[in-house]
Amino acid sequence: MMGRRPTIVRGSGLVLLGFLIFSTACSASGKAGWSSARHGVRRTVLLGRSVHGRPIVAVELGNPHAAQRVLVVGCVHGDEPAGVPVANALAAQAGPTNTDLWVVPSFNPDGMAARTRGNAHGVDLNRNFPAGWRPIDSRGSVHYSGPGPLSEPESRYAADLIRRIRPTIGIWFHQQMAVIDDSEGPKDVERRFARDVGLPLRTLTRYPGSITGWENTVVRDSAFVVELPAGRLPARAVRRYAGAVRRITGP
Ligand SMILES: [Zn+2]
Repeated sequence: MMGRRPTIVRGSGLVLLGFLIFSTACSASGKAGWSSARHGVRRTVLLGRSVHGRPIVAVELGNPHAAQRVLVVGCVHGDEPAGVPVANALAAQAGPTNTDLWVVPSFNPDGMAARTRGNAHGVDLNRNFPAGWRPIDSRGSVHYSGPGPLSEPESRYAADLIRRIRPTIGIWFHQQMAVIDDSEGPKDVERRFARDVGLPLRTLTRYPGSITGWENTVVRDSAFVVELPAGRLPARAVRRYAGAVRRITGP
């Protein structure tokens, strides 16, 4: 499963083409005439399916040749879905000119459907990554780290995507501490993001097997956690968070 190729989703059908289509499409629509292609690329990629078969998709938009690659993930813990509308709002906007923006509304659709922190195996995906992974708790406990690193399909899709696009900035939404984590990741970006959304910076505990901890071993100082407040974000707040991401990506 680690080597599984992503799938391009077009309309209602799934077109099973490999990642090759990315480079093909890029060279066809990219370099030549890029400056006039105001909105760049927009494609939806099926990364894989959850334990219960729900699709896990990413939307790529903007400039696929840009040096800055930003990954935004709306939901990892199924009972912390407030970032999903922010991700959806970003995915619906025109792509940035000088950033390759990747948006994943949720890596844990089964958890969202069941309103559980973990996936359908009861694994906390944010303890399931190779950086410092160790057995934590057991099945049935909310912080269960799974039987081994990347044991879960949802984790493997996230790891595949991160390895493939190597985000220069990764923004991972969680709830419900209402802080921006400054324990890892790009300090200047975290500071500006915190200011733009009006949340304090706080150094959070670095847990073994966390996704952002692992992502920061792939691309140093790239990823950070945004802990949204509890509950649903009002529409105005959704716009504010999406706007803070777009301040990073540029227009
Ligand atoms: Zn969380």
